[in-house]
Amino acid sequence: MKGRAFTADEVFDGWQLWPHAVVVVDEQGYILQFIAHPDDRQRREAVYFPGLLCPGFINVHCHTELSYLKDRIPRRTGLVDFILKLMEMRNDQAFSCDVKQQAISLADQQMQQEGIVAVGDIVNTLDSLPIKQSTPLHYHHFVECMGVPETLAQQRLSQALKLAAEWKTHTVFPATLTPHAPYSVSDTLLSYIASQHPSLISMHNQESEAENAWFVFGHGPMQRLYDSLGIAPHAAAGCGITSLRHVLPFFTMPPSPPATPPSLILVHNTFTPETDIAWAVTEFQNPIYWCLCPKANLYIEGRLPPVKALMAYASDMIVIGTDSLASNDTLSILEEMKCLQQHFPFIELESLLRWATWNGARALHCESWLGSFTPGKRPGVVHISAIDHRRFSASSNARRIA
Ligand SMILES: [Zn+2]
Repeated sequence: MKGRAFTADEVFDGWQLWPHAVVVVDEQGYILQFIAHPDDRQRREAVYFPGLLCPGFINVHCHTELSYLKDRIPRRTGLVDFILKLMEMRNDQAFSCDVKQQAISLADQQMQQEGIVAVGDIVNTLDSLPIKQSTPLHYHHFVECMGVPETLAQQRLSQALKLAAEWKTHTVFPATLTPHAPYSVSDTLLSYIASQHPSLISMHNQESEAENAWFVFGHGPMQRLYDSLGIAPHAAAGCGITSLRHVLPFFTMPPSPPATPPSLILVHNTFTPETDIAWAVTEFQNPIYWCLCPKANLYIEGRLPPVKALMAYASDMIVIGTDSLASNDTLSILEEMKCLQQHFPFIELESLLRWATWNGARALHCESWLGSFTPGKRPGVVHISAIDHRRFSASSNARRIA
């Protein structure tokens, strides 16, 4: 057999598990062949790994630039206090550029070791630029726009466009504008972002009960956020509909030709009502991906998203992210899958692996070269150990082998 051949108890090709299948890669890691039903000779010639093999993981949501904030923010404070603490930390001059870049570099290396091959990375700065110029990982940079006062909209858009241009000039990776969250972006700024026709949007969505309460009723803990920041609250307060229903139409209005509507990645969805999921799925043409970051949800709110409802309406569109080390102790897709399996035992291993590989690759628009063991792609080969009856065990590890 030409190339290097690998086999395991089960091999996941991006869509399903195949017992004792063989995957063959060349020296550069390009897939030469996927043999679902190998003969005895093909199996003997392959290097065997106990457990399973799968394509490299896609971490759809991360903020690598916050890696220096690991263990700095208390757990389970709720989103408003988390954000206030985060902003305080970000303004703390005690963290030098060196400290930040060392933390980002370490995060990037750990993601590589854990089998991650691509990352959807939210950026507000150029802090991670030196690391991105030499990393073997693929990144999609989401340049985050934020600003509640309507009068700031033009300025915030210009800043974001400038930052996106820097990213595109100095790295090989795509960079697109994206709103931070419904409660932190004015309607004017939302329409400005939409007018740039970004191909891909990744927005924090319904991460707290407070977010919906603000939009539906116009009161609740969000008021404290606006007061603490010394700004007038978001003008959509009390509009009678959830934040998702308020925001989605900005990106689903018919764009002027020849642009096509953007793909949307909605991140967290911890408090998304089932009726909102059904509405979003049936109402719009845009591909809408639902990104789960369960460990960050437990860290910040102590709650988990409505996974059963998401699976009922949009199983093909579920993806996984780690969020940042400010709200997580690892940047590991395997640990996120373990967390999901533990809290939602009905999720099958194949579903989790599909969310972590093929779905994630589609969400970040890199499915032509990542996400499955298709000949010609270079998705990475990951070994996961200690699988017990198609379930991860506490000691399961992920390691990149090609
Ligand atoms: Zn985030």
